[in-house]
Amino acid sequence: RSNAEKFEFQAEVSRLMDIIINSLYSNKDIFLRELISNASDALDKIRFLSLTDKEVLGEGDNAKLEIQIKLDKEKKILSIRDRGIGMTKEDLIKNLGTIAKSGTSAFVEKMQTSGDLNLIGQFGVGFYSVYLVADYVEVISKHNEDKQYVWESKADGAFAISEDTWNEPLGRGTEIRLHLKDEAGEYLEESKLKELVKRYSEFINFPIYIWASKEVDVEIPADEDDSNDEDESSESSSSDEETEEDVDKSEEKKPKTKKVKETAYEWELLNDVKAIWLRNPKEVTDEEYTKFYHSLAKDLSDEKPFAWSHFIAEGDVEFKAVLFVPPKAPHDLYESYYNSNKSNLKLYVRRVFISDEFDELLPKYLNFLKGLVDSDTLPLNVSREMLQQHSSLKTIKKKLIRKALDMIRRIAEEDPDEFFDKEKKEEVSSDNDEKRGQYAKFWNEFGKSIKLGIIEDATNRNRLAKLLRFESTKSDGKLASLDQYISRMKAGQKDIFYITGTNKEQLEKSPFLERLKKKNFEVIYFTDPVDEYLMQYLMDYEDKKFQNVSKEGLKLGKDAKDKELKESFKDLTKWWKNTLASENVDDVKISNRLDNTPCVVVTSKYGWSANMERIMQSQTL
Ligand code: ADP
Ligand code: MG
Repeated sequence: RSNAEKFEFQAEVSRLMDIIINSLYSNKDIFLRELISNASDALDKIRFLSLTDKEVLGEGDNAKLEIQIKLDKEKKILSIRDRGIGMTKEDLIKNLGTIAKSGTSAFVEKMQTSGDLNLIGQFGVGFYSVYLVADYVEVISKHNEDKQYVWESKADGAFAISEDTWNEPLGRGTEIRLHLKDEAGEYLEESKLKELVKRYSEFINFPIYIWASKEVDVEIPADEDDSNDEDESSESSSSDEETEEDVDKSEEKKPKTKKVKETAYEWELLNDVKAIWLRNPKEVTDEEYTKFYHSLAKDLSDEKPFAWSHFIAEGDVEFKAVLFVPPKAPHDLYESYYNSNKSNLKLYVRRVFISDEFDELLPKYLNFLKGLVDSDTLPLNVSREMLQQHSSLKTIKKKLIRKALDMIRRIAEEDPDEFFDKEKKEEVSSDNDEKRGQYAKFWNEFGKSIKLGIIEDATNRNRLAKLLRFESTKSDGKLASLDQYISRMKAGQKDIFYITGTNKEQLEKSPFLERLKKKNFEVIYFTDPVDEYLMQYLMDYEDKKFQNVSKEGLKLGKDAKDKELKESFKDLTKWWKNTLASENVDDVKISNRLDNTPCVVVTSKYGWSANMERIMQSQTL
């Protein structure tokens, strides 16, 4: 086109598109989900703006917040249209030509080797999945603050933008036209599209329509030429109403008519927009929750979430919420932990989507949860910033944390592998097999978050400590809990013993364990760097103190010989202490913590353990 302006894609986008267009990835269906989810996001945005400025919606059809799907079998075009916020020319260049999100490069690399596109939506590059099925794509868009533009690309490294002077004006919103590849003919079948929308986009909160054909019986005068009839019926495509009217009229005059089939078109609604969180939790099936999770999390796999919690809070602060523990931790969960506050909860106020960037809803350590909150108490027509300050947010947050921790505890309670005492084990029926080993899997993905919670959330420290798992000298390669530890404690044992280090194998050989093992005390192995910090905050559990066995203060019960030994080695310890005084040694003592090893260096009670010294050193280097 003569007035088109040409642009090159950001190198990363270009590479991504190359991979997608040549992809052998079998689940090509995903493009439709991505497009519908983008349309839905755009509708959310305009609806949000309309809360404070009604004018933005316009009038008539423009004000209808809906999504429309249309097929053109002859031209092999599939189009998806929304009346959302639309894109200005600048938006088109920025949003459909560059990727801002970090980690995309790593994703592209991974995709190149694994061919797995399931995460595409989570990486903020879902739009480009159109090139799984199309080799040429046009994006026509009209934003309230700009003219109508067409963006187009054949995925050949470049895209073009032109002011739109030839298409029908959209009013507002975006239409994506996919010129389908020859092998993607199935997406021209209404039945296929209906099935996809039903399956994947069931939880979109805006009506989705398809321009659907219907065989209708119409009566036409009997005396017309037979050979003409058939042609007429297969060709007539658009306004069925008119034809019917005509028929009606002729019917009155000539009673002799006959029936023929005709194709009529009409907008057919494909989804039920009743939000799942407004329904009674008892009436929502597991399958529905799982599907809802996938749509919410932009997760295109079919992995089941570990758990969910759907509840309705009543009282001063009324809200409904659905929380999920995802089946996998996102790739950058801890990478970005300290410099991002991003929560994964969507906030709605009375069914209207407000934001998914609200950090006041959950504490940082629970950022791995997905879900939504729909509040009845928060005001609708104030700015995001003002909402952020609202007092009922505190109450919501408190309840969400409780519910979240309950939900995680339930994963453990329902897991037969988690039952350590024999009595309970017998209660577990075999139909719980599906839940077997779930908590260990959960721990593997999100254990670190629980530890960070213990460090950061003093109010819920004890609840979180219950969720803690570790290996120990008695856990036999499996994971144990603090409750389990306590149930195995020896008579008279007062403290919970632990040791820290880089790995279990190294710790197993530690001289600090000699005596404890011999005396049959259980010792917890802490091998994650975060454990050192953890143990600075976790002082006690159920009235038991924690004792690092490599630190001063280890008491293994009094021995009658202790005093005697102390007395007879008095001179030696004194000499030794004096000799080492210049080496930063505080004291030299007779100890009962060893068995074969003659002596060990122990850290003072309030000092850093040797392991902590090592961690700190590696951080400063
Ligand atoms: P994401 O949706 O995760 O941001 P996408 O690749 O799906 O990533 O889309 C990129 C961006 O393009 C969106 O963030 C949005 O700004 C813009 N966009 C895509 N589709 C539409 C649409 N139908 N209406 C308005 N903007 C859109
Ligand atoms: Mg998207």
